[in-house]
Amino acid sequence: MQVNRQRLEKDFNNIAQFGSLEKGGVTRLAFTPEDMKVREYLKEVMEELGLTISIDAFGNMRGRRDGRENLPPVIIGSHLDTVPEGGHFDGVVGVIGALEVIRVLNENNIITKRPVEVINFSCEESSRFGGATLGSKAMAGKIGIDDLKKYKDKAGISLYEELESKGFRPNDIASAQIGTGDIYAFVELHIEQGPVLEANNIPIGIVTSIAAPTRFKVIIEGRADHSGNTPMGLRKDALAAASELVLGVEKIAREEAGENTVGTVGYLYVQPGAMNVVPGKVELGIDIRDINSEDKLKAVDAVKRLMGEIAATRGVKVDYEILTHDEPVSLAEKVINTIEVTAQEKDIPYIKMPSGAGHDAMHMADIAQAGMIFIPSINGISHNIAENSKMEDIVQGTELLLAVTIKLAQEGEMIK
Ligand SMILES: [Zn+2]
Repeated sequence: MQVNRQRLEKDFNNIAQFGSLEKGGVTRLAFTPEDMKVREYLKEVMEELGLTISIDAFGNMRGRRDGRENLPPVIIGSHLDTVPEGGHFDGVVGVIGALEVIRVLNENNIITKRPVEVINFSCEESSRFGGATLGSKAMAGKIGIDDLKKYKDKAGISLYEELESKGFRPNDIASAQIGTGDIYAFVELHIEQGPVLEANNIPIGIVTSIAAPTRFKVIIEGRADHSGNTPMGLRKDALAAASELVLGVEKIAREEAGENTVGTVGYLYVQPGAMNVVPGKVELGIDIRDINSEDKLKAVDAVKRLMGEIAATRGVKVDYEILTHDEPVSLAEKVINTIEVTAQEKDIPYIKMPSGAGHDAMHMADIAQAGMIFIPSINGISHNIAENSKMEDIVQGTELLLAVTIKLAQEGEMIK
């Protein structure tokens, strides 16, 4: 029983065409024409493989391979949407790996006890609508109609409107929710998106926990004034205030919160944005992550305090909205152990590690026994056209996924 490299490459190359950029990389934002086309492709492949396709109200695609018994399934897969000018590997590796698992089961006539399903989650990346892992969130029952109306893209189109125009069912979002125990296990194969595996020359990471982000959208309002006629003492410079916040976030994450805390200000919009005008308004985004809830909360509280201090000392208005506040998640012992034992049997070197990036597995962990397998990212680069992983690592990751999927799908007992 063997994973076939050529078939993996074929799926990889086919998927890479949708939204591919001349300079390399890909832009395939959620629900854009590129994403809709890749979904169509996936649907065709799922049909070819004999899977029974279901698409929920949020557009999450599942393809089911029946088992001997009608038990809760083992689900494998990831996502096909990308960030703008992203790479061809993030998300894609988990989907093509899952398709190859089905092919190997099919060609070897293996009927598992439990059904095995391939999933493509909708809208995993936050790039378009400002919220990440929304498809799995909907499955975990954490998104309502009001939320769909709140998430908007740069053109002002709400997720609600977009779902409706693409033929999905935003009014019926509650129906996307999966009951606890209705899925037996979820396993996601994914690129590491960091440098740890490559630096240690280890081909497999077994993810133990996922650091969850808290994200702030911050608006600082000062006063736009003439840069020549306004004395320093009379200014309310929104960008100077924002700069204090940027450096403060870095200091809090580095020195004041926990050992694993990371804090980032990833964007700044400055208005009016002219050389000869004191900046009157700045919007910025803060992203704070940790695998430890208490440490993350410490950082979040410190950032809130700092915003209050900056407002008071500089006489600017600092308003913030918390866009996301997710709890760090521990993945299921059962799945972690299954992956570990299987890696040992196959003599594949591995390490256990936390994930600094968020993944759909963190919401699936609410409703199923969830686990993740990482493969190395070359130079640790991700969310970038230079994102890359070796095909041999994808093949080995898929081999591990195959063996783990079979083990989990052959298990009879229900664990709730
Ligand atoms: Zn991803």
